[in-house]
Amino acid sequence: VMFAVQTEDGSSNADCSVDEPLNNFLKWCTEVNLNLSNKVFLSKQGTAAGYGMLAKEDIEKGHILFSIPRLALLHPGTSRTKKVLEEGRSCLESPSSWVPLLLALMYEYTSAESHWKPYLSLWPDFRKLDHPMFWSKEEREKLLKGTGIPEAVDTDLSNIEKEYNNTVLPFMRSHPELWDPQHHTLELYQSLVAFVMAYSFQEPDEDEDEDPNPPMMVPMADMLNHVSDHNANLEYTPECLKMVSVRPIRKGEEIFNMYGQMANWQLLHMYGFTEPFPGNTNDTADVQMTTVYNAAVQATKNEAERSLLAQKWKMLGDMDVVRDKGVFVFGKNGSLTDTELYMTLKVISMSKEEFREFQENEGWEEDEGEEEDSRAAQAVSFEGIPAMVPEWKRLLNTAAGLTLKQYSEDMESDLRAIKEPKALAKLCHRERRALDVRLGQKSILRKLHQLTE
Ligand code: SAM
Repeated sequence: VMFAVQTEDGSSNADCSVDEPLNNFLKWCTEVNLNLSNKVFLSKQGTAAGYGMLAKEDIEKGHILFSIPRLALLHPGTSRTKKVLEEGRSCLESPSSWVPLLLALMYEYTSAESHWKPYLSLWPDFRKLDHPMFWSKEEREKLLKGTGIPEAVDTDLSNIEKEYNNTVLPFMRSHPELWDPQHHTLELYQSLVAFVMAYSFQEPDEDEDEDPNPPMMVPMADMLNHVSDHNANLEYTPECLKMVSVRPIRKGEEIFNMYGQMANWQLLHMYGFTEPFPGNTNDTADVQMTTVYNAAVQATKNEAERSLLAQKWKMLGDMDVVRDKGVFVFGKNGSLTDTELYMTLKVISMSKEEFREFQENEGWEEDEGEEEDSRAAQAVSFEGIPAMVPEWKRLLNTAAGLTLKQYSEDMESDLRAIKEPKALAKLCHRERRALDVRLGQKSILRKLHQLTE
């Protein structure tokens, strides 16, 4: 006897093991020659989150888990909207270069005849996406103050609205046979931005100097969840894209991709999840460049010193070492922006005479610069900090202290929350994600603070 069961998303199903959208998608995969190895399967059970891929049997390293012909990829060049998007290219330019893909997606997502319907129907709405851009402003401020996410989301939301109103809307109006603003609303556009953020791929460029490739949707590859310690990797060939195992995988294990070397704040901002603290080996914390300047101002004794400091800062700006909203990034082992930080500390702590000579030379001589690079990396690593000159330590100590004060709560109360199972269990999904982000950043900043004491 089969009982009607309520599925997770509220729809009714005769048997919870039958996933109609998933079956349709798999059928479509066969039709478009997307080859799935018989050593893996897709499931919603036993995965890190939502859909994921699992190993049906032991898999050796180098096994092709699936391959996707380029024609199955969804991007402006394969979409039914290809022609008008190409013709209108010049009026669709935007800083993010996402507009053509988003327009293609708006059409394909809402068209009953879309070639990608079985693929896109896996996400009948985007309610599962829980990026901070869908939280209320108050919630972001309350849970994420100091993490940099509220500011990043404000910028995103304002750009999305501007892009929709100034670029997308006029374009849709001039192509009523493909788009209708009644259906293709700002709300849908924003959901698709989040979908592109969390699901799209960017083909790496051969030539690093070129502009990065625009994003595209890669069916099947985007069913894989992420961990930094991943076991599969996407390879690009002229004919197809291949997901290949990068180490042996045991039967029952989940197949994980790595979305990039990403700190928890980036994962939350772009994908709506975090790696539980302290598991993310790529976690980072930012110190605003201006905070280091403010720390240096605090150490000045008179107007002459402040004026000299201002000149030094201007010179660092002219040399492109520091920027207005720039940050120094610290990872678990120390500075990741070592050249910038080292140069900044060095210039700030120059005597008046040293700085005059430095100005006359217009910075460092070329070869001296290269030598400095390797010295810099060592000096501002957590290992090198104890041997730093006291003045640099004091600057970093003040800057770390100022940065720690920007969060709403101190590290101790966050630590108590994570160590107390009862308190932890009470946290909702968003509170838990925010706690992971804050603790990861604070623990790095505290280490910097303690090492420079
Ligand atoms: N699980 C997704 C689904 O059911 O559609 C497929 C992966 S999709 C490319 C990326 C999304 O999966 C993210 O935005 C996040 O919601 C989720 N995700 C991926 N890795 C995760 C992880 N390690 N922990 C929690 N959620 C994860």
